[in-house]
Amino acid sequence: MAEVPADLEEVLKDAHLPALMTALVHMTGDPTWLREAWKPTYNPMERTDTGIPEATQAEIRKQAAAAIRAHLGGKPLALPSPDLAVLRRQMDFVAGAPIPEIYADFLLDELALAGTSSKDPKFDQPRVREAARKLKVLVIGAGMSGLLTGIRLAQAGVAFEIVDKNADVGGTWFENTYPGCRVDNSNHMYSYSFEPNHAWPQHFSPQPELLKYFQGIADKYDLRQKIRFETMVETLTWDDARGVWRAALKRKDGEVDIIEATAVVTAVGQLNRPRFPEIEGMGSFAGPAFHSAEWRHDVDLKGRRIAVIGTGASAYQFVPEIAPDVAKLTVFQRTPPWGLPVPHYHDDVPEGMKWVLEHVPFFDKWYRFWLFWMTTEGMLPMVKSDPAWNGSPDAVSAANAMLRETATAALQAQVADRPDLAAKVIPQYPIGGKRSVLDNGVWLTALKRDNVELVTDKVVRITPKGVVTADGVEHEVDVLIYGTGFQASNFLSFLKIKGRGGRDLHETWGGDARAYLGMTNPGFPNLFTIYGPNTNIVVNGSIIFFSECSVRYIMGCLKLLADTGSRAMEPKQAVFDTFNKAVDEANSGWAWGSPNVSSWYKNEFGRVSQNWPYGLIDYWRATLEPKADDFVLEREPEPVG
Ligand code: NAP
Repeated sequence: MAEVPADLEEVLKDAHLPALMTALVHMTGDPTWLREAWKPTYNPMERTDTGIPEATQAEIRKQAAAAIRAHLGGKPLALPSPDLAVLRRQMDFVAGAPIPEIYADFLLDELALAGTSSKDPKFDQPRVREAARKLKVLVIGAGMSGLLTGIRLAQAGVAFEIVDKNADVGGTWFENTYPGCRVDNSNHMYSYSFEPNHAWPQHFSPQPELLKYFQGIADKYDLRQKIRFETMVETLTWDDARGVWRAALKRKDGEVDIIEATAVVTAVGQLNRPRFPEIEGMGSFAGPAFHSAEWRHDVDLKGRRIAVIGTGASAYQFVPEIAPDVAKLTVFQRTPPWGLPVPHYHDDVPEGMKWVLEHVPFFDKWYRFWLFWMTTEGMLPMVKSDPAWNGSPDAVSAANAMLRETATAALQAQVADRPDLAAKVIPQYPIGGKRSVLDNGVWLTALKRDNVELVTDKVVRITPKGVVTADGVEHEVDVLIYGTGFQASNFLSFLKIKGRGGRDLHETWGGDARAYLGMTNPGFPNLFTIYGPNTNIVVNGSIIFFSECSVRYIMGCLKLLADTGSRAMEPKQAVFDTFNKAVDEANSGWAWGSPNVSSWYKNEFGRVSQNWPYGLIDYWRATLEPKADDFVLEREPEPVG
């Protein structure tokens, strides 16, 4: 039995109270925890504030402590599975406002109170299990999505192998080790839905903690024995006659192995090929020059003059970390990022909160649920373009303009003493046009330092000594760091893929990658992409959710193959075309599709090739299971004789 802290009411001060009250309904069976007088009222810009008066909070904590003591003393859970009416009340209560009915099934699935969800593979029928045993899946990538795919394939009894170019699992969390690297989604939501971590040290933990989590997952699910590390998949060739993919895998020692698989899942992310800008003289710099995703830990920055090119999400994290140690830091900014005020961005998860997560049944579920709701669909209306909007072009709707005002005020307050800086750091494009960063003040504090200079003149040349800007100034530095992002729209660029009849995927795309639901392409049977074209999200939620939906769908596709005795499936061209047309039209209706914005969300043709232009709920529904009618299914040939 868990030891109950003597100062339990004190401990409960650290817990998210509305989630705690909601969890107590299960413990006590008493729905009056959800009374109107105790309902939270959140401020969208200060989400940790529940709006519950302090005296009321104290009363709630007193009653909650008594209930928790009774439960941990042996009193069984009174209501582990409430009926739908109670669940709906719980959802509305923790959200602080009624959640529209259309979200109910989606959110209940995400909540997974009983520990099961639509994302669990459903390969129970003996016939399906038997047929699935004939499949063999090659998974490319052992990051968040690849590990997830491995877990699900193992649960379904499908043979698989994972190949990763790196020496360990973790993907982006293995590669990005720059100072200050951390997750920018709440960690209690940025984790697999079926693998909560009650011990996250921070609300937005640093990179080593994320890597540790994914390493722990690989160990727990015994995935390492299925992974070939330090191996590149170089080519994939579909064998029409035999209905298999042949893959050439290049090992670290240069040897090439050929393996075959009935299906291939690429799980390589969108943000893993560093992008260097095209600037004259790039190779001429005499000192160390490196990209943030390939951080040179052997280069001591202490006391040296550093140039950073770029002010995106990565630079936003490492600039404040390195600024105090260097002699001079010159930050070259093309476009300032929008910051959303998140004061607890670097805060530890209080010990009391960790205790409650671990010991109060269902608290973790409801806390995650609250994070999920507050940071997902709840944000979307603020970045939706209003076609009738005729206000300033730096917003796309009245709601977007209001959000802009709030965010601008927060930025301005930080640079009230530095009008020179204020003019440079307040963006002129609509908020939501690019990925916003989480602002707890450290970025502008760094830019205000005496040893830091923010340069907004265009970078025109790199010289052996430093960086030349359009005003003719040569900024002399010792080290040059590129925080210039990734080749996001070059999907699968490292991989040569020949599909049916030798058709080349990259030639088919012509640099403008598309896929049906981000996953499949006509002419490329049994090839599935996770985090593929048009599956990125800008403001709403964690990409883990998207991967879980994609993997569910892919598992559904494998089941469809097994179920129908088919050996290959590919989307019908008309289905693919209709989907992509709709996606393009829909993307123009959001801040990131605005013609006033350029970002890594758009490819060289100006098309938004990265983003999902609908809600999470829409991806959840679209990926519940594949529709057989969307696909051309190729039956197994009849055995001869
Ligand atoms: P990014 O957001 O694409 O930022 C690249 C920066 O480099 C931008 O400021 C860009 O300016 C600038 N740049 C590019 N070429 C330039 C040039 N020639 N001269 C001057 N500036 C130039 O890249 P990132 O910061 O690596 O982030 C990429 C994505 O990774 C993020 O959006 C996010 O999704 C993800 N990420 C997440 C986290 C996290 O979760 N904690 C951390 C880092 C990254 P423009 O804006 O004008 O193009």
